[in-house]
Amino acid sequence: MLTGMQIAIIGGDARQLEIIRKLSELDAKLSLIGFEQLDHAFPGACKEKIGEIDFSVLDAIILPVPGTNLEGEVDSIFSNEKVVFTGEYLQKTPEHCVVYSGITNSYLTSIMEESKRYHVQLFERDDVAIYNSIPTVEGTIMMVIQNTDFTIHGSTCAVLGLGRVGMSVARTFHHLGGKVKVGARSTSHLARIQEMGLQPFSLDELQKEMSNVDICINTIPAKIVTAPVINSMPLHTLIIDLASKPGGTDFRYAEKRGVKALLAPGLPGIVAPKSAGQILANVLSQLLFNQQQDKKGAE
Ligand code: NAP
Repeated sequence: MLTGMQIAIIGGDARQLEIIRKLSELDAKLSLIGFEQLDHAFPGACKEKIGEIDFSVLDAIILPVPGTNLEGEVDSIFSNEKVVFTGEYLQKTPEHCVVYSGITNSYLTSIMEESKRYHVQLFERDDVAIYNSIPTVEGTIMMVIQNTDFTIHGSTCAVLGLGRVGMSVARTFHHLGGKVKVGARSTSHLARIQEMGLQPFSLDELQKEMSNVDICINTIPAKIVTAPVINSMPLHTLIIDLASKPGGTDFRYAEKRGVKALLAPGLPGIVAPKSAGQILANVLSQLLFNQQQDKKGAE
């Protein structure tokens, strides 16, 4: 239980509702900022404006997956009002207050460092990234189906990167009957790709390997699908770029050449917000419970 914990949940999308539901069930006291258009009421949760919050009593602040934008604004699909999260608010929090977000950016990192409050980026955790790869893959399949006139079964699919997302994408497209090749740079990844029954190739060979590809799915957050790489693809190739913004594809050149290339950020929140929210809610409730135990131990 999280009885006695005071938590502010600031902005977000449908994923936050699962977090609110879970923390409310665990008896935390919640201040909801940027949720005034939400009809549903949760026990122990109170809708407030950011200026009305008493930051000095907060044990935790939960931001949406992207955190803030570079001006400190927090997106909320449940509000028309602009919510800006600033270092001034953070300075008012007690020292033990922890801030949770999915990822960070230069703005959020700098106000966190100035305030000296602990910041947890949930998507840095392997467990969250691996669970989250499940709805990501389902969204990728949806996008491929929507943007091709051929089946995945029998298509040559290139997956770039064998990280948490790349591995799930490669395995699933293989199970759907795609002829999957995976590009990686480390020898251990190349060995793992072979062990999975897929065709490995070194990223040094990327350009050459693209000549017969029907679907190219990039998971590498670096400029990898460059103009020469796109130039060596057949014109019908579909590129889905899953890497975080701005992606790893030269979209300008793809458009110029007439190769369809789509940046597909935030798929879990789009295709399965409930499941994606539950993944975050489960991990957050455990982390908040640990935080509560640490605080009790220190008292
Ligand atoms: P990850 O586990 O860190 O995997 C990244 C992969 O990229 C690794 O195989 C890594 O290889 C490779 N890589 C990184 N930089 C490289 C470079 N400069 N050259 C060659 N290879 C490089 O990350 P992940 O969890 O799979 O996530 C991948 C991306 O997808 C991230 O940008 C993440 O934010 C994004 N994502 C998007 C969605 C969505 O809905 N679109 C959902 C979840 C995640 P090494 O191990 O050799 O470094």
